[in-house]
Amino acid sequence: MTEQFDFVVIGAGVSGEAAASYARARGATVALVERDLFGGTCAFWGCMPSKTLLHAAEVRAHGGEYPWERASARRDYMIVREGRDYPDDSGHIRDYKAAGIVPVRGTAKLAGSGRVVVRTDGEPRELEANDIVIAVGSIGKVPKLDGLAEAGFWTNKEGTSLRELPRSIAILGAGPSGTELAQVYARSITRGARRSSRKRSDRRASTCGRTRAPSASSRARARAVSTSWSSPMDRRSRPRSSS
Ligand SMILES: Cc1cc2nc3c(=O)[nH]c(=O)nc-3n(C[C@H](O)[C@H](O)[C@H](O)COP(=O)(O)OP(=O)(O)OC[C@H]3O[C@@H](n4cnc5c(N)ncnc54)[C@H](O)[C@@H]3O)c2cc1C
Repeated sequence: MTEQFDFVVIGAGVSGEAAASYARARGATVALVERDLFGGTCAFWGCMPSKTLLHAAEVRAHGGEYPWERASARRDYMIVREGRDYPDDSGHIRDYKAAGIVPVRGTAKLAGSGRVVVRTDGEPRELEANDIVIAVGSIGKVPKLDGLAEAGFWTNKEGTSLRELPRSIAILGAGPSGTELAQVYARSITRGARRSSRKRSDRRASTCGRTRAPSASSRARARAVSTSWSSPMDRRSRPRSSS
């Protein structure tokens, strides 16, 4: 049976949520389709976890007590992942339903003018709408790099959701995500006797590509050309290829 709506919004990140909410607030009937987590990148793999970890790292950098375990637990609280592996998006779904938005979990595919088919765990659903909003966001670009697949890598998803710190890490790309995560790790990974961050040099750590915590080093105008896995690092903290 085909379900009729004024709007079908594909993708429930901040963009899709905003479109759905505005349309609904003006009295339109709205279906919001999401294939993964309602709430999207910002709520679960971007803004929320990264800012939470950054805050903890900053406290440490200024000499405060904010151990990684506490930072990780606080991050899990912020992304509704306490005591579970994957975040829980039921709060978002409750809010949509309260607003009169119909959440549809599954992968949407355009099936003609005004028609969307959603592949779900059960029967596919057919939706029809006067207007379709495509708000599917973006995914991290994985560079073509010899040896990268074999060595394993993280994207922002694994980078913001890790519970166990690696002993060391190389970050390719010093855009906002790379710079933020470099700060988090550099200020959280404890090497040898370095426990307190009260040293003067720590206070110089700053953003904008000038991440200079004592345990961090940066290479500007450099291009990574290959990678391999040769370190005798603790295998538990070895990154796996991102799915
Ligand atoms: C580490 C990091 C930190 C960040 N910090 C900030 C910050 O502090 N402030 C800020 O403003 N921004 C920040 N951002 C950027 C912000 O997260 C993004 O700009 C924002 O999440 C994009 O939202 P979106 O709705 O466009 O996409 P997304 O949030 O990615 O949502 C798109 C959704 O569409 C779904 N989807 C895709 N295809 C389909 C399909 N066929 N069917 C159904 N669903 C589909 C996806 O599963 C996804 O959930 C950060 C990003 C990162 C990675």
